[in-house]
Amino acid sequence: MEFFLIQKYIFFIMIKGQFPIQKFQELQTPFYYYDLDLLRSTLNEIKTQALKGNFHVHYALKANVNKSVLHEIKKADLGADCVSGGEVQAAIDAGISPSKIVFAGVGKADWEINLGLDHDIFCFNVESVPELEVINELAEKHQKKARVALRINPNISAHTHHYITTGLSENKFGINMSDLDSVVDLFPSLTHLKLIGIHFHIGSQITDLSSFQSLCVRINELQQFFLSKKITLEHINVGGGLGINYEHPNHIPIPDFDAYFKTFRDHLDLLPGQTLHFELGRSVVAQCGSLISKVLFVKKGSSKQFAILDAGFTELIRPALYQAYHHIENITSELPIEPYDVVGPICESSDTFAKGFNLNATKRNDLIALRSAGAYGEIMASQYNLRQLPKAYTSDELK
Ligand SMILES: *Cc1c(COP(=O)(O)O)cnc(C)c1O
Repeated sequence: MEFFLIQKYIFFIMIKGQFPIQKFQELQTPFYYYDLDLLRSTLNEIKTQALKGNFHVHYALKANVNKSVLHEIKKADLGADCVSGGEVQAAIDAGISPSKIVFAGVGKADWEINLGLDHDIFCFNVESVPELEVINELAEKHQKKARVALRINPNISAHTHHYITTGLSENKFGINMSDLDSVVDLFPSLTHLKLIGIHFHIGSQITDLSSFQSLCVRINELQQFFLSKKITLEHINVGGGLGINYEHPNHIPIPDFDAYFKTFRDHLDLLPGQTLHFELGRSVVAQCGSLISKVLFVKKGSSKQFAILDAGFTELIRPALYQAYHHIENITSELPIEPYDVVGPICESSDTFAKGFNLNATKRNDLIALRSAGAYGEIMASQYNLRQLPKAYTSDELK
């Protein structure tokens, strides 16, 4: 909902998403709905803006691995950023070339490293010395030289929720800058590794581009360090983290990729021949997905009313896990708005999507859309309370 203040009058103008409501009414709720037209427009915009800098974009699979969604991403020719063997396999199964797959994560198991070696993936983003030693050992068994990048913790605050900030020295991720000297000195003895780059990922849902600007400044400094060590880096990988607009999914359905990529064009000094890589997750898929749910009951309390949905944190955990905001729409009511606590059926108080949220007056069997749920939604679903995993439909299927 948008509020427009014109002189002394406040107008409430409901601008809602476009949904095939009649089709929805034939389907069992709750389910995820993906607007593939919006996804395709988003991917077009990413390609247009990344092209200006000759940048390489890897899609972070952990945001969403829905088959139709992955298919569009593969068609757009993005690479893959994986954080598990399962994701490496999913990327390969989706037809993404191993030469475009990067593999990060603080705890890679031997079988996951072996999978990456078997497929000759582009790069392992390595987070510690013991991991370097194990990849070296396993690569030797494969009689291969593994390409690695050092994930460096740049000690930069992403100004986002503390559960999704990853680039501070207190976080578990990456190699601290103070250890870099000794780590780099190990490489001559790691005979089955080739150091080809450096990698960063400072957090998620970052809307203040100055965090990325700080990252660029830090990388420019680090480039001097590697030059002084006479080490040539073929690529720099700046990770992901670009935020989306959760408040206004209808007004800002596509993030400002122009401004995002421009920050790196303007502030990062690449050396001749170096390529710049990105790992975008949320900003690619968040806005194209909605969780569609039915109202089971409206329960009136003394001071508030509850809209009790058939979806809960088993389908969309972000509000319970990160106190995240999702825009909510009653897509089958045009009645005047009233405030509701919008809650799920799970036996936990944290199973609350929003408190005092203004919805069109709501009754049993109305359909509710929880917007901007395409990233870290379906993929984080669980079966707690022995619930079924949600189904998913696309706009192409329901046309
Ligand atoms: C999660 C993750 C990403 C993607 O982050 P978004 O905020 O979804 O863009 C990129 N790189 C790494 C290493 C990650 O762990």
